[in-house]
Amino acid sequence: MLDEAYDAGMRAYYLFGGEPLVRKDVGALVTYARRRGFLTTMNTNGSLLAGKAKSLRDLDVAFVSLDHHTAYHDEIRGRKGNFDEVIHGIERLRDVAGSRVVLVTTISTLNFDAMEPMARLAKRMGVMISYNSVEPTLDFGLTDSEDSPNFQLGLSPAKLREFYTTLLRLKQDGYPLMETEQVLRDFVEGRPWRCEFPKMFVYVSPDKKIYSCDYAYGYDLKHGSFEEYFASPKFRAHIRSAEACNRCVRTCVRGYSYAYDLKPRNLVSLAIDARTLFHQGVPGRGSSRSPGVSPPAVVDPMTAH
Ligand code: SF4
Repeated sequence: MLDEAYDAGMRAYYLFGGEPLVRKDVGALVTYARRRGFLTTMNTNGSLLAGKAKSLRDLDVAFVSLDHHTAYHDEIRGRKGNFDEVIHGIERLRDVAGSRVVLVTTISTLNFDAMEPMARLAKRMGVMISYNSVEPTLDFGLTDSEDSPNFQLGLSPAKLREFYTTLLRLKQDGYPLMETEQVLRDFVEGRPWRCEFPKMFVYVSPDKKIYSCDYAYGYDLKHGSFEEYFASPKFRAHIRSAEACNRCVRTCVRGYSYAYDLKPRNLVSLAIDARTLFHQGVPGRGSSRSPGVSPPAVVDPMTAH
């Protein structure tokens, strides 16, 4: 499948979850992808990172979830000892694999006050950080009920605005946020935007099914190819409807879209951030690849969404 993806023009491989590190052969997958020419990235909760670090020598960037700067993270995640696992896992990964690391902090009503301390922690560790928010109104059929746990944890519109305003201040104060200033400012000002995300990423499940960005089933690769999917009316309809969607409050989706549109001010920020990301000064491996994510990318949810 990776060969087909490469031949169809994709150049980044993003292992997603569930938790990719539960797969025994995850290191071999990453190595194969990198040798094939992909930029290799992964989202992980960090619980197995220390033990698997040696096998991840070919992982370019690890996005590691950490929701608090103290062991309160364990309570949020419901796993005792996870804070220590994450910190130790990151140290080990940087030490033996040399991967670049980005902390991913999901902000909810449980940890709203942790934004600045998390930025300070990232700076101290010499890694970058990206923030998500839990929103009560996300319309994926999960969170529109007061009975939903996400409804309780999600940020109200006023809190969401405060979330973006705080991130903008942290960015301007020089903390190593992945979000660009333009993306954050436009969120604060409530500007509409054109979503280009589906032109850049496809979600592929382990059973070779393609899903759209809102996890609707799109195509079966067992009976076709990436190129056939990209040429299909279904794909074209999806990218057309996405342009006016504006549903995601995730900063990364807007960030990727601005990158796709080559917005000049955003590009300058991205160039600076890429330098910060790819020169984390980690031992074990130099910057042997040119930085930057070349779309489209294969996103591999190791367990399908
Ligand atoms: S904003 Fe973009 S990525 Fe988010 S659901 Fe809409 S089309 Fe998909």
